[in-house]
Amino acid sequence: MARDTSPQCKQCRREGVKLFLKGERCLTDKCAIERRSYPPGDHGRGRSRQSEYRLQLREKQKARRYYGVLEKQFRNYYAKASGQSGVTGENLLRLLESRFDNVLVRLGFAASRRQARQMVRHGHWAVNGKRVNIPSYQLRPDDVITMRTGAAAEPVVRDATELTSAVPAWLQADHDGLTAKVLRLPERQEITTPVQEQLIVELYSK
Ligand code: SF4
Repeated sequence: MARDTSPQCKQCRREGVKLFLKGERCLTDKCAIERRSYPPGDHGRGRSRQSEYRLQLREKQKARRYYGVLEKQFRNYYAKASGQSGVTGENLLRLLESRFDNVLVRLGFAASRRQARQMVRHGHWAVNGKRVNIPSYQLRPDDVITMRTGAAAEPVVRDATELTSAVPAWLQADHDGLTAKVLRLPERQEITTPVQEQLIVELYSK
């Protein structure tokens, strides 16, 4: 399965914002963006021209990297979002937010999306009693998520729960029993992803 293998901290530095791609490290002073908050590369500290197109492109890249989605997949999400009723940008974020790997992070069951993806691919999780090994699996209201009994990843999951102080209101988590439920899909104001989705819509509408 194709995935983005570029260095994660460089992705944050490129976007100029913490994308929380490395789990616990992102919460420490070892975070690269705390130490070098300028873009990587020889010209990182130089001034860059901020054209409208550049702003829109960066916003799209930021969202794509935050959720760990490749270019083509992202376009597919956009196509799906624009075909739905309602505001396209919000639909797009809602689709990305309800991916299985992202939901595991929001629930506190994984420290990063990359870790969540690995656990899902290894078949450690089930939805409504059935094993699901597709990280992009789209969760729906009333879906029940459970860790499969005897899963080797349990200590990793328990460590991740220690890092989580709160679970969003659209989800319900039982950190002792390692089960969860999707109560509903998130409202825009409940999605904390640091992106301005309108810029992405403008980019794709050209
Ligand atoms: Fe980004 Fe985390 Fe690296 Fe900080 S430590 S730059 S938030 S991936």
